[in-house]
Amino acid sequence: MWTANLDNQQYKPCKNYSEFHVCNWLIPITSDNAYCASCELTSHIPDLSKEENIELWYRMEVAKRRLIYTLKKLDLPVWRMKPDEPSLRFRFLEDETEDEYGNELTVKSTVITGHDNGVITLNLKEAEDASRVLMREKMNERYRTLIGHLRHESGHFYWNVLIQHTELLSAFRDLFGDERQDYTQSLESYYSLGPPDNWQENFISAYASMHPWEDWAETWAHYLHIVDTLETATEYQVSIMRHKMVNPLQDNLYAQSFDATYEDWCRLTTVLNALNRSMGLDDAYPFIISDKALQKLFFVHKIVSQQPY
Ligand SMILES: [Zn+2]
Ligand SMILES: [Zn+2]
Repeated sequence: MWTANLDNQQYKPCKNYSEFHVCNWLIPITSDNAYCASCELTSHIPDLSKEENIELWYRMEVAKRRLIYTLKKLDLPVWRMKPDEPSLRFRFLEDETEDEYGNELTVKSTVITGHDNGVITLNLKEAEDASRVLMREKMNERYRTLIGHLRHESGHFYWNVLIQHTELLSAFRDLFGDERQDYTQSLESYYSLGPPDNWQENFISAYASMHPWEDWAETWAHYLHIVDTLETATEYQVSIMRHKMVNPLQDNLYAQSFDATYEDWCRLTTVLNALNRSMGLDDAYPFIISDKALQKLFFVHKIVSQQPY
């Protein structure tokens, strides 16, 4: 049991802390819940009889808590509002290549990372650095992280919640294109032909050019990268050339213009990338945002800051 300095209230650790050390969130001592607000959203965990899976699951939960934190800060609905509405759920699953006796299966089952009606599935392999980098190279990507996956997949959920059945749908289609175009066909054509030559002019990433849904999810993920990272910078009172960063997640601020946020994002990422290069690391934010991609980010901002929750 802990007493918080902030509100002098008493808290107990999440059960996933006591049992497996994969969580560091607390729950009010008066609550009947054994799991914290993040862990209770995990519906499937990997097979913990394999000891290495605990570490991989831990990495998944670290990334997920960061996502949930930002979603809550933005007042986005994470939990079901009405009984017939979906809420976010997470499954961390591994490929099945062996049977329970360790024999290789003739029909292997591969876990596809994705989203389906609020349920986000991540392949546990993404938490292994070597596998993730291999996949990044194979897919010709410059950025591939757990938090990036989670932010992207949550974008599909929020498209359903905030756009699908609303008057925003036509504005969405004007900017991102018509999502009714055949998804499977778009997917196949993307993987056989690659992105269009001029994708940088219209999309935030090559993958965003695959289908309007993916364009939205990629843009959404970048919006979350921006607001989360800028908030962290302001928590550390970062200023660049004596300019103090704005905190887009502070009360009232995120409902205002996106201009100041975006300008600070450009300042911050220029420095971040330069610092990483000094350390011989990859760019922290290896993206160039075109005018068209910026318009899409504005659109996400408008929706997030005005959504009626
Ligand atoms: Zn927890
Ligand atoms: Zn997607």
